[in-house]
Amino acid sequence: MTTYLIRNAQILGGAPQDIHIVDGLIAAIGPNLGAEADVDIDAHGLIALPGLVDLHTHLREPGREDAETVLTGTQAAAMGGYTAVHAMANTFPVADSAGVVEQVWRLGQEHGYCDVQPVGAVTVGLEGKQLAELGAMHDSAAGVRVFSDDGKCVDDAVIMRRALEYVKAFDGVIAQHAQEPRLTAGAQMNEGKVSGELGLGGWPAVAEESIIARDVLLAAHVGSRVHICHLSTAGSVEIVRWAKAKGWDVTAEVTPHHLLLTDELVRSYDPVYKVNPPLRTAEDVEALRRALADGTIDAVATDHAPHPAEDKDCEWAVAAMGMVGLETALSVVQQTMVDTGLLNWEGVADRMSHRPARIGRLKGHGRPISVGEPANLVLFDPAYRGVVTPDSFATRSRNTPYRGMDLPGRVHATFLRGKATVLAGELVAF
Ligand SMILES: [Zn+2]
Repeated sequence: MTTYLIRNAQILGGAPQDIHIVDGLIAAIGPNLGAEADVDIDAHGLIALPGLVDLHTHLREPGREDAETVLTGTQAAAMGGYTAVHAMANTFPVADSAGVVEQVWRLGQEHGYCDVQPVGAVTVGLEGKQLAELGAMHDSAAGVRVFSDDGKCVDDAVIMRRALEYVKAFDGVIAQHAQEPRLTAGAQMNEGKVSGELGLGGWPAVAEESIIARDVLLAAHVGSRVHICHLSTAGSVEIVRWAKAKGWDVTAEVTPHHLLLTDELVRSYDPVYKVNPPLRTAEDVEALRRALADGTIDAVATDHAPHPAEDKDCEWAVAAMGMVGLETALSVVQQTMVDTGLLNWEGVADRMSHRPARIGRLKGHGRPISVGEPANLVLFDPAYRGVVTPDSFATRSRNTPYRGMDLPGRVHATFLRGKATVLAGELVAF
């Protein structure tokens, strides 16, 4: 294996040190190591973070390879500094059996850009009626521990209770897409002042908050773990804060776009801003940032949702919901959390690597940067300034809300178990 000497990297933003990578592991850390290596990287001014872990990625394979494949999605992940992603189950066929999750897991291993940890569906076909083969998916080669009907809510309280009880046996977790379906029938955007002015169907905050309230109570009642996907309202933050204060095993994530963008953008009627849950208000954005800073929200998760142009370049009402996000996540977090003084780089490592790895019970990811650990690393240049140009993205889709926007920072290099997947800001071919 190629050996690397990374010189003068600021580990978690600290004083410059060298990192020596040998046989996939961090072999030494210290100032001026002077070690022999095949490749020498000048990391002056770069921040070293543990490889990022995404709890919420849509890779679209099998079934929608026109939007993304495991290969293009994991290449996008590597470009964004990720070394592990959780692939959501809403594929065609749905990942509700051992066969499908093993197929997705194997594709990730074969391509080698980023570990792919499949998420299993909670119910057969995401239909919310009958529990999927949770135990078989856990026992498969993919070793599934996170289950979600994401895209849809597990709205039946009895099914949700059974799922929570079932996964306790193997320390699994149910990741809930909190959306009360009847309160959001025909919803097109956040329900509020802007939806009233535009005359678009509203997605009220209470549709998210009522499900979260129910599910933290259910998780407490059966003594199981629940994870709340893409928290988007100030009220949701309050419920999660209350549940955590009770000592219940509740975790939550927020997307980069909900940390930066508001429903004011919908006035443009540009479907690139159409997403589920919808963009909310400036007050919600502020509450989400503060909750991520104080740890009420555990993790940043991208909800990377690629769509081909024909599903987005159309009228608002019929456009697909979702945004790509893997390649811009760290930059958005720098802008909203680091440059605002809300989080330091240690905090970023915690919310984008350590905690998501712990929630997913991933081994070998989210580890400290220390000698003997697997060399899962990202080198990030926070001083870089540039305009987002989606045409250079590795993802197969272009539905980014940041096109043409100035975002700070850029991934310089990513290492997966000591193998470079990105070097000098470019994908490594292998
Ligand atoms: Zn979702």
